[in-house]
Parts: sequence; C-alpha cells; structure tokens
Amino acid sequence: MKVLVLNCGSSSVKYQLIETSLEQIEANADVVIAKGSVDRIGTGSAVHTFQPAGRAKVTESGEILEHREALTQIVRMLTHAEKGVIASPGEIDAVGHRVVHGGEKFTASALATPEAIAAVEACVPLAPLHNPPNLRGYEAAKRILPDVPHALVFDTAYHQTMPPVSYLYGLPYVLYSRHKIRRYGFHGTSHRFVGWRSRQLLGRPREETRLVTCHLGNGASVCAIDHGRSVDTSMGFTPLEGLLMGTRSGDLDASVVFHVMHEEDLTEHQVTTMLNKHSGLFGLSGVSNDMRELLAEEAKGHERAKLAIDLFCYRLRKYVAAYAGAMGGVDAVIFTGGIGENSPAIRSRSLAGLEFMGLEVDEAKNAAAIGTEADVSAAGARVKTLVIPTNEELIIARDTVRLVAGAENP
Ligand code: AMP
Repeated sequence: MKVLVLNCGSSSVKYQLIETSLEQIEANADVVIAKGSVDRIGTGSAVHTFQPAGRAKVTESGEILEHREALTQIVRMLTHAEKGVIASPGEIDAVGHRVVHGGEKFTASALATPEAIAAVEACVPLAPLHNPPNLRGYEAAKRILPDVPHALVFDTAYHQTMPPVSYLYGLPYVLYSRHKIRRYGFHGTSHRFVGWRSRQLLGRPREETRLVTCHLGNGASVCAIDHGRSVDTSMGFTPLEGLLMGTRSGDLDASVVFHVMHEEDLTEHQVTTMLNKHSGLFGLSGVSNDMRELLAEEAKGHERAKLAIDLFCYRLRKYVAAYAGAMGGVDAVIFTGGIGENSPAIRSRSLAGLEFMGLEVDEAKNAAAIGTEADVSAAGARVKTLVIPTNEELIIARDTVRLVAGAENP
C-alpha cells in the first residue's frame, strides 16, 4: 500500500510517500518512495522541496496561499511525468495525518470518520495553535483525495496509558472533571517508535523492558515506558512543562507567572510568548536556541551559553533518574531528536553522575554515534544507552495500514 503521510503546521506541510503493508511491517521492510516539504505557506515565496528516493532533490518556489494549494502542488509533484514517483493520484491508497492533540478521547490512532473529526475539533481549545492547521490539512487532503481512507495519528494518544498519579496535577479535582486540566504529554509517536525499535535492538519482549526515552529536539521531552506503555512523560497540559527546551522554560513555579506579570506589567499574551518563545536555552544564554551554536559559543568561553547547556543537561539527568525510580528500575536509556541523535557531548554530560544506577557511556562509541543507530554503553554497563534516530512518519504510515486492514495497533 502507498501511504501519503502528512504533517501540517501553520505555515508548512511535511510529507512522505511510504510503501508498506502488514507483511512489510512484520519484516521491517517498509520503503520510503519520496519525501518533501512545503514551507512559508501564505507567502509569495513558499518553498517546495521534493526528495525522490535515490534521485536528485528538486526545489521550487512561488506563491502558495494555503494548505489546499500546497497539497495540490504536492500531488502534482508526486505524479509529475519526469520528476515524480507515481503515475497518477489513484496510486495513493491512503493518507495518514499527524494530529497533535487527541485529548482523552483518542487512546490510539483512528480512521478519520465524521465523528472522529468532530472529536478532534472538540480538542481545539486544548491545542489552539496546533489542531487547527492539522484539521486544515485534513480538509484539504480529503478534497484532493476523497476516495481513499484517511487516518489520524495523535501526539498525545501514546501517553493515555499514564496512571492518574502521573497525569493529575495537585489542583482542585474539579478542574480536571470540569475542564480536563491534566497532563497529556506530547511527542508520543516518537517515544513509541524509539521504544519499539530499542526492544528490537535489545531483543527483549515488551513485558520485560523498562525504558527511559529522551526526545531532545527544539522541543524536548522524556518518557518512562514500562511493559511497552507510557507511564509518565515530562510534557504536561501543554508542551511547556518539563525539560529546558530551545525557547520554552520547562518546569516552573506557577507563581513566577503572576509575579512577573505584576512587576513587568505584562499581558497574558506577552507572558505566554515569554515562556514559549523567549525562554529556555535561548532566554538563558541570550545567544541562541540552537544547541550547535551554544556548544560552539561555550567552546569560545561564553559563560551563559555554558550555563544554559549545563541547566539543560542537569534537568535531563534529574528526569532520567526520577523515571527510573518511578518504574523501580530501568533497562535502557534512549536518545533521539536533533540533539539526542547528533550530540555526543550532550548525551554524555546528561548521564554523568548516573553511574550509581548502572548507566555508563563508552566515550569512543558515543563520539562515533552521530545520526545513526548505536549502542553507546560501556562494556558491562548494567543499563544500556542507545541512540536511535526517530521516525514518526513510519509509525503514521504503519498505523494507517493497520487501521485500513482492521488489524490491531500495538
Ligand atoms: P529537532 O527539533 O529534532 O529538529 O532538533 C533541533 C535541535 O537539534 C537544534 O537545537 C539543533 O541545534 C540540534 N542539533 C542538530 N544537530 C546537532 C549537532 N550535531 N550537535 C548538537 N545539536 C544538534
């Protein structure tokens, strides 16, 4: 089956065309036929980048007003006589959509029935910035490819197995029962993928593994996976909670918000922007939200770049230890995301001090593991340290195939 995987943001569409089936999933033999993205939607200088597998990259730019126009371009590119990879849109068998928030309604991926779409719309107040572009992408794709099944794969669904002690805040319970104020967690597709892949690499059944997965990108979160299920994760009601991130503060005493609003005479919007866009690595360092730049500045002696990196690693170390404690032990710690996959320094600095738990990194193996799957544990370490590049698109394509086939989603 050829599945078109779509990830629609407010001004971008990322996509992949993936050939997969129940048999290919079993054999881990799915094939990426092409991938690409359309960025700067809504401007006169939108950029469409198309990468057919094994062939040269194609880049086009022009005016693209909204998501439907972007998707029309994508299908045109996929079916282009010379540049394309399929003869007609009829070769696309199904579409898999990334959706950020599925609330408590979605505990797994789902086919996009009218009821399911209404339920995603009902989650818009929980994710006002993310669900609307996801829905716009779905509406556009449904118009362009009306005769194939569409599936919805949620960032939150994987964390719906968290127990109440993990997902509730210490607030009046009525806020949960009335307004569903609770921790949802995000990056679920990524944590699920690296969790699955690590069990394959370790050759262990899900019943016998306790994992801590660290998705470290511009947004960052940690997940405790026990028996293949998420039992805790560091992002909460929104992606603001938890680790220090590129521009987000992560964990914070809520009283700071009111104090700062009062002292600096800030509006709700200004303080939300401050916490989400001007904090984290960027706010602390005053230099950049990009870990590569921060590491380069630190090497030149920039003190606040060093402070920001140290805080990032320290908070991650606390979460790794806390989640091992929450599960009563841990068998492997997995690093993924732009920083987790590519920065040996951050991996090793974050785990330093956790030798008492059996975590020990082999520095040579760690230094060599950049953007590739690798076991970077020291010989004899009781707890494995793995690097696994994430692949959210693959999970979306596979869930779509299983839903269409009526097979169970693991
Ligand atoms: P993502 O959001 O997963 O694309 O990750 C983006 C983050 O990964 C940015 O902070 C980048 O600086 C970081 N990153 C990418 N490559 C490297 C690298 N080689 N070393 C350190 N950080 C990196």
